[in-house]
Amino acid sequence: MIDSIKDSRRKKVLITGAAGFLGSHLCDKFISEGYAVIGMDNLITGSLDNIEHLFKNAQFEFYHHDVSTFVHVSGKLDYILHFASPASPIDYLKMPIQTLKVGSLGTHNLLGLAKEKKARILIASTSEVYGDPLVHPQSEDYWGNVNPIGPRGVYDEAKRFQEAITMAYQRYHGLETRIVRIFNTYGPRMRIEDGRALPAFISQALTNKDITVFGSGKQTRSFCYVSDLVEGIWRILFGSYSLPVNVGNPDEISILDFANEVLEMISGSQSKIIFQNLPEDDPKQRRPDISLINKLYQWKPVVSRKAGIEMTLPYFKKILNDKK
Ligand code: UDP
Repeated sequence: MIDSIKDSRRKKVLITGAAGFLGSHLCDKFISEGYAVIGMDNLITGSLDNIEHLFKNAQFEFYHHDVSTFVHVSGKLDYILHFASPASPIDYLKMPIQTLKVGSLGTHNLLGLAKEKKARILIASTSEVYGDPLVHPQSEDYWGNVNPIGPRGVYDEAKRFQEAITMAYQRYHGLETRIVRIFNTYGPRMRIEDGRALPAFISQALTNKDITVFGSGKQTRSFCYVSDLVEGIWRILFGSYSLPVNVGNPDEISILDFANEVLEMISGSQSKIIFQNLPEDDPKQRRPDISLINKLYQWKPVVSRKAGIEMTLPYFKKILNDKK
């Protein structure tokens, strides 16, 4: 009886991309905070392994569904977090149309669902809206430098459209919306073969393969550990600010320095750094200006890159071991 009263008051959240890297960490966070969670994913880049542990929890449900087609959820819904999308350059190059669809049609469907349910919706946007930025570091008032027809355009423009339609629903329909611009993030459950620098370098170093630095390696990135990101998203969702907010770690490093740092951390690795072609439209620099989120919610990342990599290494080692 008491349980059923509690259940009727329990807040319910829909998380799309639930079987992905960020989506699965968000599912964990909401479950641990006592929410009922519906995870949704079409599993084209996500994996059930990431959420396997949640299926035993009565407050967790999973729908195998592509949000680019009509989305229906019965009953009440308090919050929607839209995290579904291929998110690494090699994924969205392989799946350009799906990437465009999930950012545009998928977002439209979820905004419609949020309107129907009177739910607050948070949209996962990206530092890619700044493209190859001409302003450094990137603050929210910078409009970006994006090539709409380049190989990355399918992701960048889908996310820019996503922000535009989200703001239109907020302004036209009075929907409660939040937009998070996520900078490079890493941690356990990141796919080792997703082609991104951090999992690529770590797995190469662990298996004594060449470390593939693209271009001169002078381009920079700023890597944020996943628990810091989740905390930032949590504060944005429950805060009142409804324009886009950057979340990331401003500790910037060149890709070549990062490759050397990984080699130093993985002692005994026989790997050597090799240089390969720089992909088209690869941003030359990227660092979030986090003054806005710091001012609004006193958020700043607390996990250093070294500490974050130490926490990620056991996961990558296990995955590599399981593959043997
Ligand atoms: N990169 C690299 N070697 C790799 C993978 C990526 O040098 O094996 C470079 C890539 O060209 C980019 C940076 O590392 O300049 C970060 O790439 P990533 O794919 O991690 O994410 P992005 O920030 O470009 O979306």
